Amino acid sequence: MQVDKLALLGGEPVKTTPYGTGKRFGEEELKELAEALEQNTLFYHSGNKVKRFLREFNELYGAPYSVATSSGTAAIHVALGAAGVTVGDEVITSPITDQGTIIGILFQNAIPVFADLEPDTYNMDPRSIEARITERTKAIVVVHLAGNPADMEAIMAIARKRGVKVIEDCAQSYLAPYRGRYVGAWGDYGCFSTNDFKHMSTGDGGLVLVNSGDEADYRKTHSFADKNYQRLDSAVTRDIEGLAPNYRMTELQGAVGIAQLRKLPWICRTRQQYGDRITAGIAGLPGIVPRRVVEGAESSYWFYMLRLEEEKLGCTREQFSAALTAEGITNSGGYLLRPIYGSAMFQRRTAYAGSHFPFDLTGATYPPGLCPEAERILQTCVTMPLNEFYTEQDIDDIIAGIRKVALYYGRP
Ligand SMILES: *Cc1c(COP(=O)(O)O)cnc(C)c1O
Repeated sequence: MQVDKLALLGGEPVKTTPYGTGKRFGEEELKELAEALEQNTLFYHSGNKVKRFLREFNELYGAPYSVATSSGTAAIHVALGAAGVTVGDEVITSPITDQGTIIGILFQNAIPVFADLEPDTYNMDPRSIEARITERTKAIVVVHLAGNPADMEAIMAIARKRGVKVIEDCAQSYLAPYRGRYVGAWGDYGCFSTNDFKHMSTGDGGLVLVNSGDEADYRKTHSFADKNYQRLDSAVTRDIEGLAPNYRMTELQGAVGIAQLRKLPWICRTRQQYGDRITAGIAGLPGIVPRRVVEGAESSYWFYMLRLEEEKLGCTREQFSAALTAEGITNSGGYLLRPIYGSAMFQRRTAYAGSHFPFDLTGATYPPGLCPEAERILQTCVTMPLNEFYTEQDIDDIIAGIRKVALYYGRP
């Protein structure tokens, strides 16, 4: 077979034009911001911007209630608080995620328990979740990694059977449909981040969908984001029966959110088409295993991720990644350096300085090999940024770059 000389070895690089870029913010955001300032208040409960942002988000998701927060981390913490997660509870989650998934668990003095991942979707394996449920398990935080829906039907069936709450971490997975409903609308709570790196940005921010439709549940969630003050009646009451943080969103973020939300369907649709095109374009290459999207679901690709089989490919991940970079294709040989439980905080069990609390409540430890599939995913994955401003040419170049490098090293 004819193979082209790699750019790494002096050949012509595949990509000769810069990646497409664009402006995320414009007149639409400015108009909403000006209106927010005109209100003469930037407090979420007095103004109309955060309220409207939430109303429109609810409509998009067909959700009854939602609560705005100051970040995605805050959204997950609020959902944990609303779910009643407390001292000594266990919460099952994914070992490949952002630190923000874990923070609220530990601030509730609960113990993170990591379920292993499926080798092809890189999401939590329902069988591993079930195997790690104990008497202490209060909730599962399901991470939909990089736009790709986890298998929610299987996870919800286990959770309902075992009486544990489900919180979805959708920070990387906006408008990702799964069997007739977006992820985020399946669990008891759906959490989102609007930090500056997500599909939509308000600088920082987040929100929680309260899917039960139960008003008491909504009230509890609402007050947990606001010091446990109760503002939903005509006068605010401050009957504090338990600890809650202040994670309020401001009207400025709400205003930007309204404008960003209008762009979100286009952003997610474009990313979905681009990502699926790459997957189709690299199918069947030696040693290249594209990520699986579960049946009846679509990914909104926060970034693009695949795995290598080094023996079939005939080179190491580092060689593959360097060759792809030389072709002009931005990529990284890897994602997180190690699973979440590989950090010093878990290894030394020191969430709080000078203490092993709350880990010592259960004697939890996090040895290497805890989640072998997750560890193998991190050893063999390659990630590539994907963006709605990329052009069709950029996608063709990504496909051509991967094909060229795989066929060069993988040739018989
Ligand atoms: C970004 C992110 C978070 C945290 O969101 P912040 O707004 O940065 O606090 C949580 N989980 C996942 C999976 C994320 O990607």
